[in-house]
Formats: sequence, structure tokens, C-alpha cells
Amino acid sequence: MNYDKDKVDELTLSLLYLVAHERREGCGAVAWKGFDWETMNRLYNKGYISNPVGKSKSVVMTEAGFLKAKELFEKHFSADAKTVSLPKFTSFAKKRWHQIPEMIRKDLMNNVWCGRCRSETSMQLREGVLEQRSLVLRGTCKRCGGEVARVIESED
Ligand SMILES: [Zn+2]
Repeated sequence: MNYDKDKVDELTLSLLYLVAHERREGCGAVAWKGFDWETMNRLYNKGYISNPVGKSKSVVMTEAGFLKAKELFEKHFSADAKTVSLPKFTSFAKKRWHQIPEMIRKDLMNNVWCGRCRSETSMQLREGVLEQRSLVLRGTCKRCGGEVARVIESED
């Protein structure tokens, strides 16, 4: 299988933060190393960990590696509300969206057809653009996480 190795590296590195069991302030940390062998070698070549070859069940993370792992872990796994990104609107789309009364906007977001759920669901709004003269809202289904969209046609 052809897969995105950089992405695997990034997620593996972020999980190393989770399994780091001995922080050495300023000198990295020691982490469990039970991950894909090739990925660990790439992380070694990128300077994030020491050479993973050896019988020890742990690997030493460099300071840069530990800090990067912490950053990536927070990026990928933090449950804090502030990490939820705000929907992105083009300026015209934003203007159009805000011309709609808030009550109706909420209604629109809570009555979106999801093809995967085969029912009306709520949309987690991600972006809004104007296409032709319609406002197109895209996002994910709050129930199943699938892609959903809502087109609001121009009234004039
Ligand atoms: Zn759904």
C-alpha cells in the first residue's frame, strides 16, 4: 500500500508524547517504542529520537523531539473547545450568511440532509462560499462525521 509516511511520522511522534514515561527537562524524554520499526527509523533520521535499534523497550526522545511531540499531540488530540476551528467564509459568503436572521441560520444548520445517516441531522459548519449566486455551506454531520452541504439559493 502506498501511504503518506510523513503523516504516519507525525502521528507516531505525537503518540510518543503520550507514552513518554520519563521527562528529562531540557534533554528530551524516555518513551516506550512499540511502534512501526520503519517509522521509528525515519523519526531517528529526522532527529526526534535516538537510534531505536536495541533490545530496550524504550527510546530516548531528543529535546526537540519531545517538544514537537507535545505540540503535535495537542494539535491532534486535545479536546479543548478552543482547538475547534471557526468556520471559514469568503467575505461575500459571510456577508450573505449574516443577512439571514440568526434563528433561521440555526434552523438551517439543524436540518441538513446527511446521505450517510439517511436522515436530517445537524451540521458542524466548516466553510461557506458563494457559487454562482447561491451560498454553499459545507461541513460535517454531527452524528456520523460524514460530509454534508447545504445550498441556500439567492432570493433575488
Ligand atoms: Zn450523518
